[in-house]
This record gives sequence, structure tokens and C-alpha cells, in this order.
Amino acid sequence: MIAGIDLGTTNSLIGVYESGFPTLLADQHGNRITPSVVFYPKNGETLVGREAERQRSLHPDRTISSVKRLIGRRIGEKGTENLLGNKGTAASITIGDRILTPEEISSEILKKLKSIAEDRLGATINRAVITVPAYFNDAQRTSTRRAGELAGFMVERIVSEPTAAALAYGLDRLADQSKVAVYDLGGGTFDLSVLQLDNGVFQVLSTHGDTQLGGDDIDEAIAELVSKKAGISVSSPAATSRLKEAARAAKEILSTADATEVRLPFLEDNRSLEISLTRAEIEQASAPIIRRTRALCMRALQDADLETTDLDQVILVGGSTRMPLVRNFVKEIFGREPNLSQHPDESVALGAILQGAILEGNLQNVALLDVTPLSLGIETFGGLMNVIIPRNTTIPAKAGEMFTNAVTGQQGMRISVLQGERELASDNWMLGSLEIPFPPSPKGAVRVGVQFSIDADGILQVLARDTSTGSEQIIEIKSAVEVSDEAVEAMLAGSLEHAFEDMDARIFTEARLKAEEMLPAVEDALAQLGSDLPEQEVAEILRHAAEVRAALVLKETKRLKLTIAALDESTQILATKLIEKALKA
Ligand code: AMP
Repeated sequence: MIAGIDLGTTNSLIGVYESGFPTLLADQHGNRITPSVVFYPKNGETLVGREAERQRSLHPDRTISSVKRLIGRRIGEKGTENLLGNKGTAASITIGDRILTPEEISSEILKKLKSIAEDRLGATINRAVITVPAYFNDAQRTSTRRAGELAGFMVERIVSEPTAAALAYGLDRLADQSKVAVYDLGGGTFDLSVLQLDNGVFQVLSTHGDTQLGGDDIDEAIAELVSKKAGISVSSPAATSRLKEAARAAKEILSTADATEVRLPFLEDNRSLEISLTRAEIEQASAPIIRRTRALCMRALQDADLETTDLDQVILVGGSTRMPLVRNFVKEIFGREPNLSQHPDESVALGAILQGAILEGNLQNVALLDVTPLSLGIETFGGLMNVIIPRNTTIPAKAGEMFTNAVTGQQGMRISVLQGERELASDNWMLGSLEIPFPPSPKGAVRVGVQFSIDADGILQVLARDTSTGSEQIIEIKSAVEVSDEAVEAMLAGSLEHAFEDMDARIFTEARLKAEEMLPAVEDALAQLGSDLPEQEVAEILRHAAEVRAALVLKETKRLKLTIAALDESTQILATKLIEKALKA
């Protein structure tokens, strides 16, 4: 039996496919939702879920929530400001004298879910499908998989949340070519994904998101509003955490009620807080946060080359979409009513269960496909990015290209694997590299095939093979990726912002490489044939060569291209003479 798990920032769920139905499993108190909170006491057993949540205000420094924000991240990236460690090393959290990794902490949540399921079913469950935001990069997916393994699961598949949700909403029954937007606003992350149904298969056309945007931010804004309204500001971690919890509770109540009370006796310095709060007030405080999703929605639609009117359905995922303000906002963005047929906070878990059933062969005719969030490629001669698998390619995917040695006598090729949207290799992120050695040969004689393949979990394997000797090297790109999701955002923004200069840099580099190849060749040819040519023509060629050199020094792209063309034309006669000479010989 394969369990389906929604490992959320705020809440997690587990379930299995039982007697033909996806079923969420509840703990002994009947709760299907387990808060993604872990409490590490000084002595004794680690607590997870509601029990851990209860310890939060007493021991805020020993209670960890939203660990999903840290999984697969490195010190120095957003979200790691309060953590100890050297820049670039994997994030870890210190509690007392223990140093914990986000994988270990997440694995506690997964162990708890495993025990809930096993208690309910009276059987061992050791296989699972786990969902992650569509936006998660290789490192984050790999760390999630590792967390599952630490919890004792064989992780059968890492699935994107929107594709899981689409399955739960039964969208595989829509007409072929239907297009669906999945608006997912959870506790800590936001995603907008555009899916298309092709022959009963979901294709993700595009996806945009922000892993630092969600209900947590709304809670903070409401906490600020509450403390302002009450005229009480708090400073201790315990009081801050109580205030935030109260803000969150009020927010959830105000999704159905128009007004509520917030009461926090002896909050700090013997002062108690007591105010009333209306839906209109919290809507005003949270609107700026919710509004931030609009640009991301528009960007995803743009990437999919669609207008809002091209969409057949908009579905809601994530607990925060229970807020009426969010629903109205979604309606306003997309110009249509969102589909409310599923519980937004359960659909991802249901989809994970269905995916598990598909893998076991219990369900047929549906498959889930994902896309690459950024382009993948290698650095080529001259420091340019050569894309092998473009951004938004459906995975699993495989693609390759053949490369030759650029210099005579070269004894190997270094293949740097890059991720990003910029034209220059140095502006993209290096994921790893491999070295393929070969015997010294003339320029262009060695042929190295490079193949990229991404499996269904988004794990990238790069293979390089020297086609003459058959020797090959393979690397698997896992946590070597030092990419944060804000950085992905920044990458996309950067590629738009620098589009013109990047293109210019690429054209210049290509022209420079051509010039560097031509100039010595012209010199060689002149040394061999110069005496056979009229003096005037030799002078002309030398003049054009000098102009090419000047353009190289001045780094002027247009000028370089023009002077190369002129040199090319003036040396036609050299080429003809060389051929004649060769024929004679
Ligand atoms: P998720 O990550 O999908 O579990 O969503 C968790 C977020 O949804 C948290 O920020 C919750 O406060 C929020 N949430 C859950 N229920 C409600 C509700 N009824 N109204 C508003 N927000 C909610």
C-alpha cells in the first residue's frame, strides 16, 4: 500500500487508497490535519503536531514550525537570517546542544504521519508519495525525499502540489485541451500553475510562485493590527508567539463570521489584551499581501501564452483560500468564479493518494507530468549558456547535444552544468561539473555527446561521452544546487531586465570567437601566400584585420560584426588561392 502525503508548511496530511476511494486518515482524536510543528524537549520524547503546538508559547525556542521554508536551503539565503553556520552551508537549527537539519525535523513530522496511518490501519506502511510546491528546485525535492527516507518510507514519487490537486478535483474528466489555473495559497507558500489536459494527461504549461508568501504573513499583519489597536506592543518570544496564534485563530473565524473577539490575559508585564476585530479590518490588513499574488498569476499565464479567457477552470488549493477576500481576489484576477468543489486544504493530499494508487496500478488512464522551473544547460566555449532543456519543459525529459574540442591539443573538456535564463554562463547558477579527458587531438576532432535526463522526481542526471573512446562520466545533480526560490524569481526578473544587454553580450562573444579564429588563420595564409598576391590586396587585408582588432579592443558589437564581414570578404581571394595551391599539390 502506498500512502499519499501532503507535507505542508503549516499542516500535513496522510491517507491511503482504500476500497476504491482515497481516504484521509485521522489521529486518535479524529484530526485529519497534523500541524507541521515539532517540539524538542530538554529530556524525553520529541512531540509533533498539536502536542508540539501546545508547547509553542511555553518553549518557543524549542518548538519549530514552517521548517519547509528551510528544507534544501543554504545559509545566506532568505529565511536563514537567524540561523548559525557558515554562508553556503546547509541550513541547520540549534536547539539546546542539538544541531538539527531541516530534513531531520521534517522526518519527525513524517514519522508522526506514518504512525497515525499505521495505528488506523493496523498495518505497516513503508511506501509513500510526497508532494512539494511546483516551484521546489532539485535540492529541495531531494531533501524532501531524504526526509521521507529518514522517516522509514520508500519514497515512490515526489509530486507537485498543483498536479496532485488537479487530480483530486477530477479534472482528468474535462474535455481534452482544457486549461486550468491552480491558485495555491497555503501557510507559507504561493503557487500559480497552469495545466492543460492532453489525451487524459496533465501537462504543466507554466508555474510561478513565491515560497515566502502565505497565511503566515497574513497572521503577522493581523498580529500587528491587533497590537496597534490594543495599544500593547510585545517583545518576549512567548508573548509574540501567543499574539500570532491569536491572530491566526481570529483570521480563521473571520472567514465565516463578520466579527470576533481577541482575548489574551496576562500577555506581557501583567497586561492583558482584549479587543474586537471585524472581517473588514483584517481584510484591509491582509489585502497588500494577497495582492502580491497577482503579478505571479499574470507571469504564469504569460509563460503559458494564455489570456485569462483561455482558461476553462480555476481551482483553489491551500487553507488561505478559505478567506473570502482571497476568493474575491481570484475571481477578480481571472474574471470567473473559482471551482469550490473540494476542500482546499485536503485536495493536495487526496491527489497524492490517487497518484500512489496509479503507481500501484489501482487507477489507470491518468499520468501526471511536471515541468522544469528554469532552463538547464552547459557552459560553452567563450562563457556562453547553451540551453539543453528549456524552462517549462515537461518532465521526465531527455535531451542531448554534441560538442567538439575548440583548441588543438586540448586534453579534456570540462562540462559545467548550469541552471538559469541568462545568456552568459557566469550569470546563471552552476549546479555541478564533470571532466571528460581525451587524448590530445586537432581542433574539432573530438566529439563529446552530452545528455541531460530528468526523472519524474525532477532529479537531473548529466552524462558526457567521448564518442571515439567511449569513455563516459555521469553526475547526478542533487543537493549541489544552491538555488533559493527568491533567487529563481530574481533570475526571471534579471533575464527580462537584462534581455538587451545579454543578447548583445552573446552576439559580441560569438563574434569575438569568430574573430579569434579568423585572425591567426589569415596571418597563416598570408605567410604562405602573401608573396603571390598584389601588394595592394595584402595591404587591404592587413587594414581590415587591424580594424577587427580595434573593434575587439573597443568591445563594440556592431563594429566587430561589420569589420569581420569586411575581413571575410577581403580574404576570399586567399581562400581561392589556398584551394588552387592544394589542388596543384
Ligand atoms: P495549508 O498550508 O494549506 O495547510 O494552509 C494553512 C494556512 O491556511 C494557514 O495560514 C491557516 O491559517 C490558513 N487557514 C486554514 N483555515 C483557514 C480559514 N478557515 N480561513 C482562513 N485561513 C485559513
